Amino acid sequence: MRINKYIASSGVTSRRKADQLILDGKVAVNGAVMKEPGYDVKPDDEVLCEGRKISPETSKTYILLNKPVGYVTTTSDDKNRPTVLDLIQDEDRRIFPVGRLDYNTSGLLILTNDGDVANKLMHPSKELDKTYRAVVSGILTRGKIARLEKGIDIGGFRTSPAKVDVIKHNRNSTVVDITIHEGKNHQVRRMFKAIDAPVQELERIKIGNLVIGRLAVGGYRKLGPAEVEYLK
Ligand code: URA
Repeated sequence: MRINKYIASSGVTSRRKADQLILDGKVAVNGAVMKEPGYDVKPDDEVLCEGRKISPETSKTYILLNKPVGYVTTTSDDKNRPTVLDLIQDEDRRIFPVGRLDYNTSGLLILTNDGDVANKLMHPSKELDKTYRAVVSGILTRGKIARLEKGIDIGGFRTSPAKVDVIKHNRNSTVVDITIHEGKNHQVRRMFKAIDAPVQELERIKIGNLVIGRLAVGGYRKLGPAEVEYLK
């Protein structure tokens, strides 16, 4: 197996980033730095990546989690807050979250040990639609909705046109579904802030054709073969 694929299938990173690690001299084979991304790893080779011995994981896994509020979307946290990995039981493979949800955001999050799929999903060219259900302050006027639908400046970035569906409202707040395909930091919160309708609650309910459905908050399920194929 080519060494870049070997690294990616060890769950360390994607194949593209594996190439960079190799070029940066961070990969060693049998004690010597290996700078050829095309090197063919032999069965008895010992491969170290940044000083750590790695070996390809035999199988890939893809998990759909309903992330609760109050968990960070990382594999470890320097402030010792719970991470999304704390919610996954019986999984020995080194899985990691694909993309991020804010600490205060709940909903659909994919976790996998497949670096290539993760990289593809996060690449802007994939442009998967993501739908968020938000509770925002106040009533959304037609004018405010039109600004989101047209694309809005959120400070140094103009968003692409969003799809906006108001679900219901009362005198103080509105429940609204918003669909975007970009993933700038805090993008949905910044979009609603830009129209003076701050987000009170935020949940991701859909990525592409994957939906959160009736999955309990904090619950998760394995993706089926058709769903995995869809992500590839
Ligand atoms: N947009 C946000 O503002 N927060 C999230 O967690 C996801 C999208």
